[in-house]
Amino acid sequence: MAVITCSRCEGEKEAVAKTAFYRGEVRDKLLTHACQECWDEWIKMQIMLINEYRLNLMDPKSDEFLNKQVLAFFKLDDSGEVANVDFIPPPGDGA
Ligand SMILES: [Zn+2]
Repeated sequence: MAVITCSRCEGEKEAVAKTAFYRGEVRDKLLTHACQECWDEWIKMQIMLINEYRLNLMDPKSDEFLNKQVLAFFKLDDSGEVANVDFIPPPGDGA
């Protein structure tokens, strides 16, 4: 088990074990910069993105899009912007 400094939460944590779907350079970056906890968050985010943008994972453009999003999510791509998805805040906050 590798311990890495996560680029998202900045904690020293166990690195993500499996980066299903991601390959090559993106995968290498994730394995050395993403902790398992943040990865689990990303997986939820990814599901939202796939639904929101109706991504077809057989389409190489979807690959490209998700590669960019995951790098932005982990702050590994300065040029990338995280797409907005509808976020419903938990109730009972404020007031
Ligand atoms: Zn993290």
